[in-house]
Amino acid sequence: MTPTRAHRWLALVPGLLAALVTLALAGYLLLSHGEAAEQRAALLEQDLLWQKQAIEQQVAIDRDAVHGLAATLSGADYNSPIFQARVLSLLQTSPEVVGLSVQDRFGHVEWHATQAAWALPYRGEPGWGDVWVSHGQPRLRYAVLTPDRRRMLVMVLALDRLLQQQVPWWIAQRYQITLYGNEGRPLASKFQRQLDPAGVIGNIDLGNPPVGLSLKAEVYQTPANPVTGALPWIVFGLALAMLASTWALGRVMRVREEAESRLRAETALRKAMEDSLVTGLRAMDHHGRVLYVNRAFCEMVGYRSEELIGHSPPMPYWPPEEMARCEAVFDAILAGRLDPNGFTVRFMRRNGERFDVRVYASRLIDGEGEHIGWMGSMYDITEIRREREALQASHERFVTVMNGLDAAVAVTDAQTGELLMSNQQFDRAFGLPDWRGRCCVLPFVLRRVDPPVDAEWYDSYRRHWYQVKSRQSVWVDGSAVWLEIATDITALKTATERERQQNETLQQTARLISMGEMASSLAHELNQPLGAIASYASGCRNILAANSPNLAQLDQAIDKMAEQAKRAGHIIRGIREFVQRRAPHRKRCDIGTLLDTVLGLLGHEVARRGVAVSIAQAEGLPPLYADAVMLEQVLFNLIKNALEAMDNTSAEQRRLAISLARQEGSLKVTIADRGAGITPEQLEQLFKPFFTTKDTGMGMGLNICRSIIEHHHGRLWAEANPGGGCRFIFTVPFSEETDAHEP
Ligand code: ADP
Repeated sequence: MTPTRAHRWLALVPGLLAALVTLALAGYLLLSHGEAAEQRAALLEQDLLWQKQAIEQQVAIDRDAVHGLAATLSGADYNSPIFQARVLSLLQTSPEVVGLSVQDRFGHVEWHATQAAWALPYRGEPGWGDVWVSHGQPRLRYAVLTPDRRRMLVMVLALDRLLQQQVPWWIAQRYQITLYGNEGRPLASKFQRQLDPAGVIGNIDLGNPPVGLSLKAEVYQTPANPVTGALPWIVFGLALAMLASTWALGRVMRVREEAESRLRAETALRKAMEDSLVTGLRAMDHHGRVLYVNRAFCEMVGYRSEELIGHSPPMPYWPPEEMARCEAVFDAILAGRLDPNGFTVRFMRRNGERFDVRVYASRLIDGEGEHIGWMGSMYDITEIRREREALQASHERFVTVMNGLDAAVAVTDAQTGELLMSNQQFDRAFGLPDWRGRCCVLPFVLRRVDPPVDAEWYDSYRRHWYQVKSRQSVWVDGSAVWLEIATDITALKTATERERQQNETLQQTARLISMGEMASSLAHELNQPLGAIASYASGCRNILAANSPNLAQLDQAIDKMAEQAKRAGHIIRGIREFVQRRAPHRKRCDIGTLLDTVLGLLGHEVARRGVAVSIAQAEGLPPLYADAVMLEQVLFNLIKNALEAMDNTSAEQRRLAISLARQEGSLKVTIADRGAGITPEQLEQLFKPFFTTKDTGMGMGLNICRSIIEHHHGRLWAEANPGGGCRFIFTVPFSEETDAHEP
């Protein structure tokens, strides 16, 4: 059984006992009440018997006295001293005798000793007469014949007086005694108080006088004994009170038990909390005597709490070499000079090992709010110190590496743009002083896009080019940051620019050479419109010379002239644009138009060599976004090479097939000839600068073509043409790119 259940049973015991006591008392009271009633009945019977005897005895005495009196009477000598003396004695001793008289045979009263009223003539027989009531009082007569039998002595008994005389005080106190006549009517009664309605009643017949009288005794209402009457109630009340108090006690016990168990749980929790603390706790009084230490403190110093509690300074865990410092800290705490940041001291474990702690002290206040000493909490900071030093070293290594980098590195807050970290290179490149504090570096912020890109950025103020790599990252405090690494590419950029310029010059030279080579065919090309203009001019003159000039014809001829002049101008503008040194310039252009221009320039060459040119153009090719002149140069070079390659081809085989098609998102241009073809070794060499197999060739054409196509993000390559010859293919993406990044 658990203690709580046992307690519960125990709490029930007083209640049970109270109930038992109540029951026992109630039983006892019931029994004793019954017994008392029986006793009372027996007593009544006894008392009534005694009363009957007393009355009968008195009646017998009175009767005998009358007989005696009659015996003394001889004749009518009523004055004899004996008779007189007996009469007196009778009247004195028996107050119930209210009448005493002598009458003769005829009923005449000759003598009477009492009131005349009672000396009434009596005509009956000697002996007892009937009971009669006179003036409300019952009377009984007794007559005796005198010895000479001529007279009769008559005695009148007052029955009420008889009762009053014969019922003694102790009977009268208990009962009401009533005398009844033979027909059951009450004759006289002696009573004092109220009758008990539930009281006992007794009856007894009187043998003497033999006239059918009877006695009745009724018990008085006994004044209730306050103690006896109230006893059951007192017992009942006490039992109730006992039950109530037991219940209340049980309640109090339960509440107390609950409070106790709560307290136990709290104490256990507090103890567990104290023991789980990794902070060492030590309480001491005003004199520095240790009052309490927790488990963590004991483990820290290696002493048991019994060894420390009650100890006064110097403490066993103070290292000898640190004694002065420990004492100083101790004194400072006792004097109330508490450092909110704590004190750092070195302690010693029992095994002699030293360790550093940080001690935080505070006032120790008891439950009544009284300051009873000092509380100290201790943290072992040896490990923290070691970690901090390791961290410091690691930080120094990090800073050294960062500052040793050629690239400028910076970390900025993604939200505010605040510069969180930068290396020396960065500070130097952007002129940030060492003492700058919080600041923002905006140049890169403007360039950020998501996803992060690696972009080039020109610092126009310092005239430097940077390759900037931006990455979004998470900083040590969890906030979003940008990590940027800027590498100075100014030197590289300058070299590339120089190379580009050289390339441009070279391209222009190549174009000039091409033009130079084509000078005769160009002259022929120009000659045609010029000759046509000359002949139209002479034709016009002829018309004007006629008598009535045909103005309609003239108008037509002038139109043709203008047309030819336009054609010549067109050729010259084409040459100029082609040869002109200029920066690349992208715009919308149509590949068909470009091809027409080039074939226009090369028309004479084609005709001279008798080459059949076929063009296959796919439907609905979108426009390109490119530098038209550059692409013209590519087409010009490739077509010219193809024409030249077919110089040794039989006349009927000289066919040049040009196709313009779409391949995925790009334009695909194929120029296929039936020339000598290219050997596999040559394939490797073709695009290298100055590779040529021609006597007058420069070997720059294909190299320039490839750099132009790659500049347009396309590809240029050569392959064998099935059925003889070779074909050059290049692609240019259709996508319209902005030239925003172009410098
Ligand atoms: P060049 O025309 O001045 O020689 P290119 O760079 O244009 O310079 O051509 C390099 C060489 O590639 C040519 O000398 C020639 O041998 C070869 N080549 C170019 N195009 C063809 C072609 N369509 N068929 C055969 N060989 C070619």
